[in-house]
Amino acid sequence: MSKSEQVIIIGGGLAGCEAAWQLLRRGHAVQMYEMKPQKFSPAHKIENLAELVCSNSLKSNSLDNAHGLLKEEMRRLHSLIIAAADKTVVPAGSALAVNRVLFSREVEDQLNQQKKFTLHRTEITEIPKDVLAIIATGPLTSDAMAQEISRILGSSYCETQISKTKYTEICKSNNPATSGGYYGTRDLYFYDAIAPIVEADSINMNNVFWASRYDKGTPDYLNCPLSEEEYKRFRQELLAGEKVAAKSFEDVKYFEGCLPVEVLAARGEDTLAFGPMKPVGLVDPHTGVIPYAVVQLRKENTAGTLFNMVGFQTKLTWPEQRRIFRLIPGMENAEFARYGSIHRNTYINSPSLLSPSLQLKNNKNIFFAGQITGVEGYTESAAMGLLAGLNTAFIIEGKKLQPPPVQTAIGALLRYITSTESADHFQPMNINFGLLDTLRGKKLKKRDKKILHVSQALQSLNDWKTDQYLN
Ligand SMILES: Cc1cc2nc3c(=O)[nH]c(=O)nc-3n(C[C@H](O)[C@H](O)[C@H](O)COP(=O)(O)OP(=O)(O)OC[C@H]3O[C@@H](n4cnc5c(N)ncnc54)[C@H](O)[C@@H]3O)c2cc1C
Repeated sequence: MSKSEQVIIIGGGLAGCEAAWQLLRRGHAVQMYEMKPQKFSPAHKIENLAELVCSNSLKSNSLDNAHGLLKEEMRRLHSLIIAAADKTVVPAGSALAVNRVLFSREVEDQLNQQKKFTLHRTEITEIPKDVLAIIATGPLTSDAMAQEISRILGSSYCETQISKTKYTEICKSNNPATSGGYYGTRDLYFYDAIAPIVEADSINMNNVFWASRYDKGTPDYLNCPLSEEEYKRFRQELLAGEKVAAKSFEDVKYFEGCLPVEVLAARGEDTLAFGPMKPVGLVDPHTGVIPYAVVQLRKENTAGTLFNMVGFQTKLTWPEQRRIFRLIPGMENAEFARYGSIHRNTYINSPSLLSPSLQLKNNKNIFFAGQITGVEGYTESAAMGLLAGLNTAFIIEGKKLQPPPVQTAIGALLRYITSTESADHFQPMNINFGLLDTLRGKKLKKRDKKILHVSQALQSLNDWKTDQYLN
């Protein structure tokens, strides 16, 4: 490919702007297409690029936190989003909070100052052919663009080749063109239904047991057994717990297979015990009997540092999830790497569709960046913009960028969204230490583990930058 090749970026949010910056830094021309102010998503309100649609906080800036580590790595990779946040910071303890108006203006000004940057204020409804294009249209991608993405993924809305009845039924029961409801295909989703993820070393192994139902296959599930009394109390707390209110543009018609756990609890006293908490075929080796109910935890990554609470998608607030789920035996001291949620969120099944360069496997001209790749959060979205921009730049230069090491936060997040092992149950993910490769050596205290994670991450980032000639 020639040096003068232009890159099209669709969407001028956090990821699109970060991708543009990485390309411009390396001398490449960028044509960005942003639909504001011609058209606004239901959450976007201001005309500037890189709008923070909700909180003005980019979460922790502290290096004893995975969010802080990701930011520090991005600083070292010359991130525009983090530089603009550092410049427009407002006091917020250990968090990196910003003046949102100044922040967006700063990002836009920096891009506009670049000679090779051109901004078009128009909605894109067709992905241009035969050019390198980065799709960064975010969790509220316009409807026309969502249809176009669906087309290029080869999965027309409701006629996709899908293995799971779940998706077939969603397609049958909703017309995506008109419905604001719960719909999606095997490759493209419009709502998420996220179950919490627990850090493995916070589970009390004395109170749980490994087993698969009826001892079929390998015992891959950690089972948390509940007595009848524990189950009844747990259900009452689910019913009473505070829930997150739906946004005005969220009209979730829940699919039966993805009902929030509290909705199931409200259906009847034993609905959960016959649903996600059913104990059949699970004999507790501590008592020799089948418990009244169980919560099943499934490994979220190969290293086994994270466990998913199977079927526990929820709209409970985060503090309530922490309080109520800690009532589950074995989870008394559970630390949550990700909380459950259900909200409007356009994202693709990256593990099956994208290579680690964030390129579509079946069309190498097309890259995805930002929340649409299945990461969750401002910084995470910008991080995937950063990598998409760098990868595109390398391709124009006739080179190949190796993925960042999995000891780094950015590399671990990339691995999570592009590793095919999670394709079947892929759900958006925020950064957390559990994603990073396990540390060598003996068992460490939590604090020491974090310190070691950070030093290994920053060292391996520097080595990677040297290897890839990144300055
Ligand atoms: C309501 C809501 C609240 C959120 N709150 C938070 C929060 O508080 N903290 C947090 O960390 N994360 C939050 N997120 C999640 C996520 O981090 C942000 O949405 C983040 O902005 C995603 O970055 P992005 O660049 O992928 O997408 P966006 O920042 O949304 O950027 C996408 C851009 O693409 C444009 N666009 C869309 N379709 C087209 C098209 N067809 N043609 C041209 N342009 C188009 C949009 O106008 C937008 O400017 C929230 C998400 C939502 C939906």
